[in-house]
Amino acid sequence: MKRRDFIKAATLTAVTAGAVSCAGWNPFKKKPEDRSPKPYKPDGSARMRLSYEPYELQMAHTFTVAAGSRTTTPDVLVRIEYDGYTGYGEASMPPYLGHTVGETISYLSKVNLEQFADPFDIESIHDYLEGLSKGCEPAKAAVDIALHDLVGKLHGQPLWRIWGYNARKAPNTSYTIGIDKPEVVAEKTREALGRFKVLKVKVGLDSDKEMIETIRSVTDLPLVVDANRGWKDKFLAIEMIHWLKAHGVQMVEQPMASLQDNAWLKERSPLPIFADESVQHLSDIDQVCGAFHGINIKLMKCGGLYEARQMINYARARGMKVMIGCMVETSCAVTAAAQLSPVMDFADLDGNILITNDPFKGVTVDGGKLVLPDAPGLGLTEV
Ligand code: MG
Repeated sequence: MKRRDFIKAATLTAVTAGAVSCAGWNPFKKKPEDRSPKPYKPDGSARMRLSYEPYELQMAHTFTVAAGSRTTTPDVLVRIEYDGYTGYGEASMPPYLGHTVGETISYLSKVNLEQFADPFDIESIHDYLEGLSKGCEPAKAAVDIALHDLVGKLHGQPLWRIWGYNARKAPNTSYTIGIDKPEVVAEKTREALGRFKVLKVKVGLDSDKEMIETIRSVTDLPLVVDANRGWKDKFLAIEMIHWLKAHGVQMVEQPMASLQDNAWLKERSPLPIFADESVQHLSDIDQVCGAFHGINIKLMKCGGLYEARQMINYARARGMKVMIGCMVETSCAVTAAAQLSPVMDFADLDGNILITNDPFKGVTVDGGKLVLPDAPGLGLTEV
């Protein structure tokens, strides 16, 4: 058969095959039995009402990172009520991020959700929130989380299911051990045994090796470390990363401040390095791509779940790894972040475990693994 005949014959076969496979297939011929409950459809008569109140988080232990120590974290709880449903959200403001309760309340006081007839129109609501003021990410995250919780409740499904994620794929979460005296570090490590499968160790000061050796005297659990930009010399940093690898560390978060230094480390590091302080938004990913292997996404940095999901997809497309982190927060924001955890390489979602006055119950940890609620929206219950 000549090439021209072959192509002609192939075209004919394809057309015939198409005709055969389509024959008799009519998607509307047989009406499938409708067993699903009536989907919620906004009829335009109900309106969203936003309310908020400051709520100071009390921390179980004094928390020390390279930037300083604290025993409380400022927070604002948010509610969106709509047609008998309530969505919950939260803004957490660890002082080193530079946001304040005053800024958050002032932003929230400007938000008028009553102008939107359709809570499902998250994109338009986000455009509006963005246009109200630059920055104010924790306040925007609070509205975004409450909106997603509400929409999940209107759908009658947990967010992870709506997004097509498999809750059983939720990873282990790390448990954070702050910088402290050896006896306190040893005690916190012992407390974590049996409850967690990965420990995250804050480093970045002179005591790094002592911290790791203390933990290693208690357990051989896998470790990840977070230097919070604390290492000032790239040569010492790379030496430290090799030492950490030899001590069972799997990943290093934000070793240094400058992108140049982190890019230098990325070329040489035997461990993946992740950006945290260097990446806040979707628009930051291009510039950190060459300097880190992965990014740490946090709702309070990017302004909520809407942008976080875009960041996951874009970072993946750029060949980067993704982890989900949190601030010291209640189970509201931590459970919101946990909805994304089934598609993450690492999860560091212990912010709710570090406080003593959590008003919500949501995601839990079982044998180190995150267990997502199987209830609509975030699936929170009040304590
Ligand atoms: Mg970090």
